[in-house]
Amino acid sequence: MTVNTSEDSRYVIWLDIDNTLYSANSKISQAMGTRIHAYFVNLGWADEEASELHHKYYTQYGLALRGLVRHHQVDPLDFDRKCDGSLPLEDMIKPNPELRKLLEDIDRTKARVWGLTNAYKNHAYRVLKILGIEDLLEGVIFCDYSEPNFSCKPETQFFNNAMQTAGITDPSKCFFIDDSRGNVEAAWRLGWGRCVHFCERGMEVTEGGKLKEISISPDLPGEIKVVTHLEELRTVWADVFKN
Ligand SMILES: [Mg+2]
Repeated sequence: MTVNTSEDSRYVIWLDIDNTLYSANSKISQAMGTRIHAYFVNLGWADEEASELHHKYYTQYGLALRGLVRHHQVDPLDFDRKCDGSLPLEDMIKPNPELRKLLEDIDRTKARVWGLTNAYKNHAYRVLKILGIEDLLEGVIFCDYSEPNFSCKPETQFFNNAMQTAGITDPSKCFFIDDSRGNVEAAWRLGWGRCVHFCERGMEVTEGGKLKEISISPDLPGEIKVVTHLEELRTVWADVFKN
């Protein structure tokens, strides 16, 4: 047996970006939903059909675009330009010093910090830049829309690729926070050690084109922690914060 002694032994903290690093009250998900709906309508579907398909693909694949590419040969980069790329993000979110401090207080001798998003890199880095935290992440795993068969959360391949890119082989050393219950559960099933569902209960969010009130899932496995504010990570993941 060969022992790989070069692997970094630190934990990796994986942060979802949209609706996790900024609050759902920014209404970005609603603006995104409107644009995606318009994209479906422009492809020729009537209003109602467009809504149904949008929701179906989101539910089935974790990302509406995944269904559009798979079944309708949509160019993901065109989709990205017209949907995420046209969002007036600078008017919707602002630099967040509290979030910056939170990330600065993570003990980097114990943990590395990465982004893990279903967005394309343009949107991901734009959000991080506006929030003022771009320099605090070691890297970002994004959906590579330039690849014809790109994968996304909650697919196993996406999580495995992420680990490979960050150079970590032990899933129990992965910390993960995401506002999507499906994504968190998928990671937990793969053995990711410290999964957290970010759940801003009572707020509204658009998922797959449908507006819904965020609520806590009662039947979440006990190992998955639930937080309603990112500051709670200081308690939930106390062992990786500087004391
Ligand atoms: Mg999210």
